[in-house]
Amino acid sequence: MLDPASRTAQPIPNIVQLAQGTALAHAHDHDHAHSTTGVSGPLSTRGVESADHNPDLCGDDGAVFTKNPLEQLGRASHPLVAGTKVHLLTFGCQMNKYDSAMVAGLLDEKGAAFVEDPEQAQVLIMNTCSVRGHAEDRVYNRLHVLKERKRREPGFVLAVMGCMAQKEGELIAKKFPWVDLIVGTRMLDEFPRLLERVREGARTPLLAIEQKPDVYFGETVARRENKYTAYLTITRGCNKRCTYCVVPYTRGPEVSRAIDDVVAEARRLVADGVMEIMLLGQTIDTYGYDLKNDTNLSKLLRALHPLEGLKRIRFITSHPEECREDLFTTMAELGDKVMPFIHMPPQSGSDRMLRRMKRGYKRQRYMEVVRAARKACPEVEFCGDWIVGFCSETDEDFEQSVSLMEEVRFQNSYVFKYSVREGTPAQKLDDDIPESVKKERHARLLGLQEQISLEKNLARVGNIEEVLVESPSKVEGKLSGRTRTHLMVHFSGGAEHIGTLQNVKITGATPLSLQGELV
Ligand code: SF4
Repeated sequence: MLDPASRTAQPIPNIVQLAQGTALAHAHDHDHAHSTTGVSGPLSTRGVESADHNPDLCGDDGAVFTKNPLEQLGRASHPLVAGTKVHLLTFGCQMNKYDSAMVAGLLDEKGAAFVEDPEQAQVLIMNTCSVRGHAEDRVYNRLHVLKERKRREPGFVLAVMGCMAQKEGELIAKKFPWVDLIVGTRMLDEFPRLLERVREGARTPLLAIEQKPDVYFGETVARRENKYTAYLTITRGCNKRCTYCVVPYTRGPEVSRAIDDVVAEARRLVADGVMEIMLLGQTIDTYGYDLKNDTNLSKLLRALHPLEGLKRIRFITSHPEECREDLFTTMAELGDKVMPFIHMPPQSGSDRMLRRMKRGYKRQRYMEVVRAARKACPEVEFCGDWIVGFCSETDEDFEQSVSLMEEVRFQNSYVFKYSVREGTPAQKLDDDIPESVKKERHARLLGLQEQISLEKNLARVGNIEEVLVESPSKVEGKLSGRTRTHLMVHFSGGAEHIGTLQNVKITGATPLSLQGELV
């Protein structure tokens, strides 16, 4: 993180800004966890890479603010994006990967050429994450390094988009005036137009961080990391206020996408070769509540299920307070396509900690949801996110997390050491757990999950599992795919198997993955 003092140390550049208050600044915690699975790995499509508040008028330090730079500057008149070499680097969660794919799709439509090597790029875009300080620091470090390149190549365009742009946009503009374009989470659909403005010579940094009420979900075929699987965002933002979390401040209130729109995008994806869709939402169970027309996740699953060519549907992230039994009934009924996997973060097993985190449920509720899901769909597996070392967490509180992990026996978990995020309610609490204790608890919970994962995976040896074959494996000569419960399987096969569903006999297991052979 930048030193707060640096906020005023730099002269402000000319800033044109979309206004309307955003003051502060989590896709879900799994974004930064030390995972016991490879669920969130690096995204690498050609040139699309993943690394793992304002008043309306005048700023207090001389910045020029306008409501909307596009209104002020007029529409772009030249197709300055066509042929431009672009490299897009993504930090953070699946939601960010989706946003990157969406922006890449929009630029693709305008004729941009994506390049693998950032050095070859005329436009370098960083899609940023604010969930943890580490992710922010990595972006700030890169911005420092890129100053020299900007000096060498004046025509090189540097853009920052996503959560950090939303939360820290003004600061980035002041501290890194060599950044050309800063685009917040609800202005991403304007990216190509804004880029055109920059390439036409608009004064930079161009800051676009308005929290527009009309949320764009994407109407183009996104550039994806995998030909056969795709993310599809169905809600943006979050209405919860978990005390440690920045998402409500970086992504705004929850907005759902109409069922027809979701189905239409799913159709486009399937027509483009997609077999598996992962529906994304911060609290996926509240999908449709804001539409006020009885839309809900179960109805959406029923609407997607008949799509020919669509083989698998998944959804993340579930919230223990919001998960309803009808969802499990629907999952059981549509079990040929709706996959039996629920990512539902407990965060802690201690009621006292859950209260301090303002999670809105108790441990007993979490277990009721797990039991109800397992009763309706015996095949279902759970993934958990955990925070260790949250403010005032005692040994006894931590042991409650250990015992919840043992009781549920998650397929896999993401475990995080708590660190305060600026602007969150928990900033007012005392971050009083020593780093050494956080490390110890982190290692212990991860170790326990590793042991449980290995035991569960070994129990699958001898099973025949349905696997969607996604790509060649990192293990030479092998293929990789995922089981119905999203476990990675490596097995021998030919290129003709990629993009098909295959039955694989499980022959071996590690905590992270399975090995098998085609049957
Ligand atoms: S439910 Fe809580 S942790 Fe998840 S995005 Fe919303 S505020 Fe953040």
